[in-house]
Amino acid sequence: MQAGDPAGMYTRLLWPALGLTFCAGLYRLKWRVWESQVRITMARLVMKFGGTSVADLDRIRNVARHVKREVDAGNDVAVVVSAMAGRTDELVRWCREAAMLHDAREYDAVVASGEQVTAGLLALVLEGLGVNARSWQGWQLPILTDDAHASARILDINGAELIKRFKEHRQVAVIAGFQGIHQATGRLTTLGRGGSDTSAVAIAAAIKADRCDIYTDVDGVYTSDPRVVPKARRLDKIAFEEMLEFASLGAKVMQVRSVELGMVHNVRIFVRSSFEKPEDIDPRAQPKGTLICDEADIVEQQVVTGIAFSKDEAQISIRRVQDKPGVAAAIFGPLADDNINVDMIVQNVSADGATTDLTFTVPAADYERARNTIAKAKAAIGYDRLDGATDVAKVSVIGIGMRSHAGVAAMAFKALSERNINIRAITTSEIKFSVLIDAAYTELAVRTLHSLYGLDKA
Ligand code: ASP
Ligand code: MG
Repeated sequence: MQAGDPAGMYTRLLWPALGLTFCAGLYRLKWRVWESQVRITMARLVMKFGGTSVADLDRIRNVARHVKREVDAGNDVAVVVSAMAGRTDELVRWCREAAMLHDAREYDAVVASGEQVTAGLLALVLEGLGVNARSWQGWQLPILTDDAHASARILDINGAELIKRFKEHRQVAVIAGFQGIHQATGRLTTLGRGGSDTSAVAIAAAIKADRCDIYTDVDGVYTSDPRVVPKARRLDKIAFEEMLEFASLGAKVMQVRSVELGMVHNVRIFVRSSFEKPEDIDPRAQPKGTLICDEADIVEQQVVTGIAFSKDEAQISIRRVQDKPGVAAAIFGPLADDNINVDMIVQNVSADGATTDLTFTVPAADYERARNTIAKAKAAIGYDRLDGATDVAKVSVIGIGMRSHAGVAAMAFKALSERNINIRAITTSEIKFSVLIDAAYTELAVRTLHSLYGLDKA
């Protein structure tokens, strides 16, 4: 073949051209396979909506559009709903009015009904939007619990039927939160106030969901309460342990048990807002909110993550208690028997060496009961005087980074003293410390500490 020979040139060009076309075809084919894989490998989600998010039919329609968005994106969805806002309170009131000392089994029968209504309504609205959906009550799955009526614990959930329906019919499960069934007696149970968070996390664990989205009236977990600290920031991530402290210390985002359960089963919990317009959210993009996750998943760990506070505290001081073995047991035994939760305990030696002062805190609601319990045990304890105060607040500084940093608490004590805030009691644990102060100084103390640890937003 000679250079410049036209036939030879064509053959020389033909082969590469054919090759290119072939490669392009192969590439397109690969792209399609990849695309369809993306569609097949969708996520399995639990979407939980609290009372304010399902407060009326309009809000329920809004929830349905959130659900439809995720279904249209190819996700398997189990929804968990609370009762309409205020409904459970009303049901509890009715029980009290019906019988002051009501049977907890009947209380459960009454208060569980709020969730039955919202689950059914949401399933109806979803069907209207062309989404295949079915409602489920606790006994139907079933969600098995122990028999501690009004504060039952989940023992087991059968997720098999839900998974089967995802696979065969792409059916959305709409599950009534807050309720379960005690197997041996066949009675309905409820999980304690705020329990639908726990239902959601337990279901996420049972169906091995990729994520448990908690839709609520805030768009995530903040470094502190934004109503008190205007400079509070939303956290992108928070570790289970930190969230547990937040939840136990009065940040009312989630029921404490739900966070415990999430930690045990390593369920990725995502707190986000239900008030964002469903259509404004791209289901494939990273949503706005706070991920509660394993601490190993948090790359940039700050020393302090947030400041929590609670005004629902009361202080009891027992003066001139005999300083002898068995006294602590004589005090805290009866309190435990009466189901009173003691939080901070401080004991100091008084001047004479033979007696001591002992201070502790209880929930404000239990203050009078706790005083009575101590007064009744006076002979066994042996003390001079009982003092107390209810105008106190507990301010807590939380952060996993405290494990590896010294002097974090000392900074706070100095900053508070500079503001003339007196500390009545202190407790510390590995990842938090709390101070008890006069309630009047709560806001000042919280803001001071929020700035001190560099949490203020720019
Ligand atoms: N409806 C129940 C309550 O108000 C459960 C929940 O909302 O999580 O406590
Ligand atoms: Mg709630």
